[in-house]
Amino acid sequence: MIVMKFGGTSVANYEAITRMISIVRGKLEERPVVVVSALSKVTDMLYRISDRAAARDREEADALLAQLRERHLTLAGELLGTGGKLYEEACAKVNSICDALCSFVSAVCAVGELSPRSKAIIISNGEYLSSNIICCAMNAAGIRTHYMDARSMIITDDDYLKGEPDMKAIAANTPEIVLQAYQDADAVITQGFVSATGSGEPTVLGRGGSDYSASLIGMAIDASRIEIWTDVDGVRTADPRRVPDTRCLDRISFEEAAEMAHFGAKVLHPLTIEPAIRKNIPIYVLNSMNPSGEGTAILQSQFIEDGVKSVSCKENIYVINIFSTKMINTSGFLKKVFEIFSEHKVSVDLISTSEANISVTVDSSQKIDDVVSALSEFADVYVDTDKSQVSVIGKNIVSLKGLLEQTFAPLRECKIYMISQGASYVNISFVVDRAVLDDVVRQIHKYLFCM
Ligand code: ADP
Ligand code: ASP
Ligand code: MG
Repeated sequence: MIVMKFGGTSVANYEAITRMISIVRGKLEERPVVVVSALSKVTDMLYRISDRAAARDREEADALLAQLRERHLTLAGELLGTGGKLYEEACAKVNSICDALCSFVSAVCAVGELSPRSKAIIISNGEYLSSNIICCAMNAAGIRTHYMDARSMIITDDDYLKGEPDMKAIAANTPEIVLQAYQDADAVITQGFVSATGSGEPTVLGRGGSDYSASLIGMAIDASRIEIWTDVDGVRTADPRRVPDTRCLDRISFEEAAEMAHFGAKVLHPLTIEPAIRKNIPIYVLNSMNPSGEGTAILQSQFIEDGVKSVSCKENIYVINIFSTKMINTSGFLKKVFEIFSEHKVSVDLISTSEANISVTVDSSQKIDDVVSALSEFADVYVDTDKSQVSVIGKNIVSLKGLLEQTFAPLRECKIYMISQGASYVNISFVVDRAVLDDVVRQIHKYLFCM
């Protein structure tokens, strides 16, 4: 069995879904589990709807809900032709999902309060809409397709907006559900991103989480391969939207891919690699607009050569600077600091310390207010919000002679605030002013890959 995940742009409209269906048709012999994201931009719209509902802006919320319904009904008509059983079925599904969503949003508008649980319910509708329509379209195209609700497979804790998967429960339930679904089907389809607690309360895996869903399912069913179908030819030496002249990488290691994803390469959700590593399942990143391309294979490190593979960056990070004279000559201070981060579930990327100062970087998607106030009880804390983080990633780069010189040579004029060379041998990261990020990344990329 294989898992094939199609991202938002790969299911954005009639043309994309038609292409997607023909890609799946070519792999039916391998019994694909198809995982789909919401149509492009739909999840953003659902976030907007939940924000408007919380602000009791009924007018805008209703206008957006109407657009959402319209887009999906129109798409169903384009894919299935108006009239006919499958068209009726798809429209009934779209209308019932949209009706339930409208009632829910109107209840949120009435109270003007949005809990994480309510938000998770709202933002997960994009995947339910897309998967229902695509299931009908696959059946209409002659592929007998069975619909599965990912919430019966992807079990998480009760962190509603960034559920932590319960690997044991996922591994225990999923194979049976998929086998059952396959009994009289040529393919099965399910949603990315959405998940549920053990007691069935809706959660989601966080932004971009469909990649993670695909690898969790792949792990659970011992897939022979996980395919991530997206809008670029594979993993590249840098984000092509930010840097000119990037190159596609034929193969990279699990560790390199994990570091790239964690340090800003949006092409994969940061946690995608972990479930695949557990079962040593290769991941392929492929372009749904160029299905005959080779893409990038993500494999065990032994098959990958040493050397620099990419420059990744996170544009918007927080640098938390913690100053305390109590740190000097005392033990236990670092422990106290990091216990606070751990209690508030804020994960730290880079760390640097000196005698009376600790600086750490954290991703700006995390809520740091409580951490800052807890730290402020015993230290002076200052948060920088106008900084970015750049990472040079590649297997064994730490042992490459002259790499630091090469990396920093183009940056003679640029202020560097923190440098961290991880013990992983895969990553050298540093912090610069956000205003110079694009320039820095382009210069380093040019120096490392184009000279
Ligand atoms: P999907 O909707 O298919 O999940 P995403 O937008 O989440 O697609 O991810 C694909 C995008 O990731 C690309 O369009 C590209 O701009 C961006 N990206 C960032 N870094 C890289 C990289 N190193 N290689 C390829 N793409 C990258
Ligand atoms: N639709 C979700 C998002 O936009 C999940 C995904 O696309 O991976 O974040
Ligand atoms: Mg994505």
